[in-house]
Amino acid sequence: MKKAEKIKKTLKETKGKRKNQVGKVYQIKLQNLSKQDEENLNRLFLEAKWLYNYIVADIKNRLNSTAWKLKEVKIKTPKEIEKREIKTLSSQMRQGIVDRIKHSLKALRKAKEKGLKVGKLQFKSEVRSIPLKQYGITYKISRDRNRVKIQGIKKKFRVLGLHQIPQNTEIANGILVKKSSGYYLYVTCYLPKNEVVEEIRRNRIPKAVGIDLGIKDQLTLSTGEKISWYIPETGRIKKLQKRLLKKQKGSNNYRKIKFLIQKEWEYIQNKRKDTLNKVVSHLKKFCLIAVQDDPIKSWHEGLFGRQVQNTGIGGITARLRNLATLIPVVFVDRYTPTTQTCSKCGNRQKIPLSERVFKCEVCGFELDRDWKSAIEILKEGLRKIKGEGKLLKTLPVDCGEVKPVERATALVEAGSLPLKW
Ligand SMILES: [Zn+2]
Repeated sequence: MKKAEKIKKTLKETKGKRKNQVGKVYQIKLQNLSKQDEENLNRLFLEAKWLYNYIVADIKNRLNSTAWKLKEVKIKTPKEIEKREIKTLSSQMRQGIVDRIKHSLKALRKAKEKGLKVGKLQFKSEVRSIPLKQYGITYKISRDRNRVKIQGIKKKFRVLGLHQIPQNTEIANGILVKKSSGYYLYVTCYLPKNEVVEEIRRNRIPKAVGIDLGIKDQLTLSTGEKISWYIPETGRIKKLQKRLLKKQKGSNNYRKIKFLIQKEWEYIQNKRKDTLNKVVSHLKKFCLIAVQDDPIKSWHEGLFGRQVQNTGIGGITARLRNLATLIPVVFVDRYTPTTQTCSKCGNRQKIPLSERVFKCEVCGFELDRDWKSAIEILKEGLRKIKGEGKLLKTLPVDCGEVKPVERATALVEAGSLPLKW
């Protein structure tokens, strides 16, 4: 009981501390791996898989309070049941894997409650990430020597990327990840919130912005800026996929090509992520963001699925939600008729998808369809915060145009657009 109380207290303290911090994850690459290093790491991931599958095979009996103490598990091979020793995977790592199974079960239960059809937890043919729960125990960073120590492996790893981690940061949990391009350590760091906010403030544009998320131009801002990118699958990946079809499943050649495909995928994903980062850091400069609440899901299902995937734009709403802890982000209901409303006279009219320019039948106002939509989203966002005193309080004081929200809204409503914004 005493121990449980202690844990509870620490958790509460951490929670309090985190309120004034901002979490960020840094990717560190393990470098110059010797054959022995590779073997050690491989063993770690193998043991993680054995443990995971062993517990999943009989959750009722095996997912108990001593599951993390397991030193030996039984694995079913095509011929027989074999014993496997868990010797490299530390008890904290084992605990991390047990927790993961618990989390997955909880998620499944929740989905079931919602009425979704759910299956059982599946066996894994490969575990690609290992949770490193406590910094200082499961892993340790030595900055001056540019090395990382992983629990259970004696030799320290030389790494690339430590310079990204700021000095005044609190290092927390990590994840060890196996990718086709190598082994990585994802380090979660907590930075003092006031410093992060201060940095954002230094680069701030005293403007509020509305964002229209679209298919053709992914982002159209109420400032008139259009941001688009397209990072399709490479020709190489298509070629490799064709070659894969000709190989026998399970053969060495099959594996080789599959590995190359994974590597190429990783490269494309990285490019998309990188672009998204750049976009978000541009948006961060505005002192208020208004955006439609997740219209992307419905696109995925529709005609535009592939194009949406090719831009990785799906991640933008999630990123904006994160950003909302640092700057005010207003989510506007996705059914607000922002495309149909005239920005000058407020008249509503249908506009077919093929028409790129909005022409008001009543007052003659003309503007690029997405641009106009972004302006309407901003207006709706401002209208929304007018009713929410709480959000208003979080608005930065030096945000000239937004401070008196009424003034800003009035400006828009008076039709002095486009583009005081
Ligand atoms: Zn009009």
